[in-house]
Amino acid sequence: MWRLIRPDAAFALEEPGVKGSLTRYVGIVEGRKLAKFLIARSMPVEFEPDASTMELWKIHEKGLKDYQEFEGLVDEGEAPGMMEEALSFLDLKIEIARRIMESCHFCVRRCGVNRLSGGLGYCRCGPEFRVSTFFPHMGEEPELVPSGTVFTCGCTIRCLHCQNWEISQWAEQGKPYDPYRMARVVEGLRRQGCRNLNMVGGEPTPNTWLWLRTMKEIKVNIPTVWNSNSYYSEETSRLLSGLIDVYLLDFKYGNDECAEAISDASGYWEAATRNHLRAKMYGELIIRVLVLPGHNECCTKPILNWISKNLGPMTRVNLMFQYRPEYRAHERIELRRRLTPLEMAEARRIAEEAGLKNLVE
Ligand code: SF4
Repeated sequence: MWRLIRPDAAFALEEPGVKGSLTRYVGIVEGRKLAKFLIARSMPVEFEPDASTMELWKIHEKGLKDYQEFEGLVDEGEAPGMMEEALSFLDLKIEIARRIMESCHFCVRRCGVNRLSGGLGYCRCGPEFRVSTFFPHMGEEPELVPSGTVFTCGCTIRCLHCQNWEISQWAEQGKPYDPYRMARVVEGLRRQGCRNLNMVGGEPTPNTWLWLRTMKEIKVNIPTVWNSNSYYSEETSRLLSGLIDVYLLDFKYGNDECAEAISDASGYWEAATRNHLRAKMYGELIIRVLVLPGHNECCTKPILNWISKNLGPMTRVNLMFQYRPEYRAHERIELRRRLTPLEMAEARRIAEEAGLKNLVE
């Protein structure tokens, strides 16, 4: 049925731009490869659960090096089996994430609240998922459709033009889900023919610990898509490495002034560039660049130039023109209108001059 709604999605996995930049993802969708979370789950790692956090991070960094080799062995069908009772690389990540919950620094804000004992930080996320909705999403990039998308409440930034503000800013409270129940949701989405698990919100970052625990419970091979605003901490980026198959990252602003004024996201550029580089190093990447009215020179241009220079001209980029004023967009004069045809043409010209050759059509 979805092939009728999105005929472009039906053949998307055959597209050279998709096959070239999302090779492993295509292999998982087609059942030829295993999702990274399943590999992390089967890679034994020795650690004492009561060791110091510093010690656990040291073991994690060594585990990440071993993971790369282990994934190669799994892909070749040569990985050794794992003892049932052994601890895994995923177990290690879960323990570190649990500790982060006690003094939260999943995102750049580093609120430091203990979310396990009722503390709430900027995002107001607690110790359990709050789920707005989940369904096979037909509006994502063609290679992702149908995408098993889970919308959770809460966000780490506050975009004045947020289109999902009811979810991100808690106008609705969502329903509570634990990781066990969430895993059943993910399996159900796969049964419905979804190509992937698409973790979004709001923002998935505050739920990192919960998603990791969900990945311990999921009983199907399904590629994971981390659909994020890119404002997550270095620690979170390390935990996601060797676990996430596709990073679907927004690159929102080309400078910190715009990021602060529109999304209350100080330090955005440093976080976004770091997280994009790490995403490319440890997974596959699709970058979303939403063109904002009046922001081609200050944002679109530096973003696209940076992507081309640092991630390569074949990076898969979705240059998005669907901006419309929502939520509190009226608070800034340039955000009160849609893009003009001239601005769209200008953004396309910037992408061309930057040398980007793998735009989502
Ligand atoms: S995830 Fe939420 S509580 Fe944690 S640091 Fe970010 S805004 Fe604060």
